[in-house]
Amino acid sequence: MTKEELWQAALARLQLNVSRANFAAWFKEATILDWQNDNVLIGTPNSFSKEWLKKKFHEDILKALKDVAPEIKKVEYAVFNKSSSEKNNPPPPQNSKQIPFEELQLNPRTGLNTRYTFKDFVVASFNEVAYAAAEAVVRDPGRAYNPFFVYGGVGLGKTHLLQAIGNKLDEEEEMKIKYISADKLVSQIVNSIHDRSIDSLKKEFQQLDLLIVDDIQFVAGKEKTQEEFFHIFNALYERNSQIILSSDRLPSAIPALEKRLSSRFEGGMVTDVGRPDYESRRAILETKAKEWKIDLSHEIVDYVATNIQNNVRELEGALKRLDAHQNMKKGKLTLSIVQKILRDLTKTQAKIATPQKIVSSVASFYDIEIKELLSPTRKKDVAYPRQIAMYLLRQDLKKSYLSIGEVFGGRDHTTVIYACTKIHGETAKDAQLAEEINLIRQRIYGE
Ligand code: ADP
Ligand code: MG
Repeated sequence: MTKEELWQAALARLQLNVSRANFAAWFKEATILDWQNDNVLIGTPNSFSKEWLKKKFHEDILKALKDVAPEIKKVEYAVFNKSSSEKNNPPPPQNSKQIPFEELQLNPRTGLNTRYTFKDFVVASFNEVAYAAAEAVVRDPGRAYNPFFVYGGVGLGKTHLLQAIGNKLDEEEEMKIKYISADKLVSQIVNSIHDRSIDSLKKEFQQLDLLIVDDIQFVAGKEKTQEEFFHIFNALYERNSQIILSSDRLPSAIPALEKRLSSRFEGGMVTDVGRPDYESRRAILETKAKEWKIDLSHEIVDYVATNIQNNVRELEGALKRLDAHQNMKKGKLTLSIVQKILRDLTKTQAKIATPQKIVSSVASFYDIEIKELLSPTRKKDVAYPRQIAMYLLRQDLKKSYLSIGEVFGGRDHTTVIYACTKIHGETAKDAQLAEEINLIRQRIYGE
């Protein structure tokens, strides 16, 4: 067996165990560089994918190789494309910045807001994967990851990251670029169908080298838009134009989205931004405080990072208040002043789930009526979300099975037990479901 044959056979096995998006993103470009007895050296196109394979897929890879050639015991990884530069850390932010004002910096040619740059983008554990993928897109637009799909809750930096890619490419390359939010896209398409200019609108889009559509979940249920966008997408994809999309959820979880579109969206790189953990929140606060010239002690940074947890936008909001105070009073900020200034912000942080909140978050996530979720209907697209809602009531509120049954119109407690056990078991095996539950929790606790 040659090393190529070994790799093909291993890939066939790996394909069964990793998601399609992961497979496309991480395995397609990898290869076996060397195979000596029990030792295999895997080559990847860049250091990021090397680290990623090593960190996330090492066990899977070793097992797949062993299945084919049982003598293999050791797998090592190396980068084989030396041209890819190593720049996994952004340069430190400069010290000369004002708090940015969004409206003023719109580039009318591209639709991009030039305030969103990589330079100002703080990279930490909650967004490092999305960031690294974005860098790969910048290095090799149209080829590295196409489409590139980023999802996650509000205020976590999706728009910032998408626009940073656009601004960077606009700076460095001769590219026709367009950034557009999906709701704008919907109205442009609808209007142009109405006044019969859809062909010229489509032509305009199809000539782009880079198209960024933000919040693509807003095309849900918009059939005409989906139809036209499908053609635009295909035309761009065929000419290797880069397509970048963001959403509040995975493509397959966007309700009323044509299957052919969601599978196109999954065909490239799909990655999420999570909620920032404590360390990430500190990093964001420290970087921005420096950038905006706000003088904060460690104690204050710690206080804000501990008490404001939801997203980057809220951290920015807190900093802006502190800045305003500092400008007004000129005095040094003390912890007790900060506590006073942020009192109302930190209070709302103690978000607790209620049964109502859980039910309404699940219903809105799956785009069904609360009424329906609580009704006895057995339709699958309602019954499954209902089981998830039951599971969350149990997990997060520790409700009794009996009382959960009552929430859903007096269902038997054995039905509830069945639902909770089932969903619990599935989350352990089904990464997509785990992710959906995670996103629902972000809605319950985050917004
Ligand atoms: P989303 O599109 O996910 O709702 P945004 O991109 O609008 O979030 O981010 C909200 C605010 O937080 C923006 O002002 C953005 O500049 C800032 N922000 C988000 N993530 C980061 C980050 N990693 N580094 C610096 N600023 C960030
Ligand atoms: Mg956004």
